[in-house]
Amino acid sequence: MEERWSVPTTEANGVSPEEAFAILGDETRLNIVRVLWRAGAFHEYDDVDDTAGALSFSELRRRVDVDDNGRFNYHLSKLVPHFVRKTDEGYRLSGGGKRIARTVVAISGEHDVDVAGEVDAACPACGGDVTVTYEDQWLRFTCTRCDGLFGDAAPNGTLLNAPFPPPGLVGRTPEDALGTELYRCMLDLTSMMQGVCPECASAVRGSLSVCDEHDAALGQSCLTCRTPFAAWGDLRCGTCLFAKRLPVELCAMALPPVIGFLYARGTNVLAPSLDDLFEVVRSRVTTTVTDTPPGVVVAIDGDDGVTLTLDEHLTVVDLAG
Ligand SMILES: [Zn+2]
Ligand SMILES: [Zn+2]
Ligand SMILES: [Zn+2]
Repeated sequence: MEERWSVPTTEANGVSPEEAFAILGDETRLNIVRVLWRAGAFHEYDDVDDTAGALSFSELRRRVDVDDNGRFNYHLSKLVPHFVRKTDEGYRLSGGGKRIARTVVAISGEHDVDVAGEVDAACPACGGDVTVTYEDQWLRFTCTRCDGLFGDAAPNGTLLNAPFPPPGLVGRTPEDALGTELYRCMLDLTSMMQGVCPECASAVRGSLSVCDEHDAALGQSCLTCRTPFAAWGDLRCGTCLFAKRLPVELCAMALPPVIGFLYARGTNVLAPSLDDLFEVVRSRVTTTVTDTPPGVVVAIDGDDGVTLTLDEHLTVVDLAG
């Protein structure tokens, strides 16, 4: 029988983060990655592997513009096999090499990304005007009237705040950018609530933090925790340290039973408007913190709806509805 899954050779494994940083910390080697990327020397698709471009040694050396054959070979050999693969057709980027190139492309800022200004949306907490700023590749939506949703964990008034690649803003209005950031946020959250890191596929650990003295309505901050929400979910990847901290109501809304329930009733949790998302949180979700065992019960639409019990690690331990 034909083998369906390719088993990586041991020599292609086993590079530590420190070794990978050391290998890539050289201009010539990064230039090799750049040239292979520009030449399309990698698997064309990220799901099938029957089409891949490649460059011959001599052509690659010519394009990287290194005269010394020995020196070029030395640097190229450092990249093989983790970032560059040698094949019968020539050299191409490995999956890891392609990912490095993609990351550089995603963070490159040669684009006109001036999106700052007012957004045609209302604050979900107080109805105030919303503005957007883009600094240090963080896209931040802020209410001009209330304290926002994150308390002291983000600048006052913050409604939504996430790193956003500059190319993703090209050709997008502030409203499009808001929709795109919400989509990315909910998709990442969906993956993390399934225990999978969207960046590196490692296991994600969840933990619940609760304000014991909580007293606040949406749009106002509790004097104790300084946020409008009593219970927060902390989700983090122990490998690449990708992490999110969001109200537990949103964490619950990223689980398939709730996604399906709300979709059937007109709210697409995966592509919501800011207002739709928080309209659900504000008027359709009841959150009850439990001490023994420690956890939280999130009920959507009361007795006719769906009720989930999450434990202190944000794992679903009971589902009704
Ligand atoms: Zn507001
Ligand atoms: Zn509180
Ligand atoms: Zn990760």
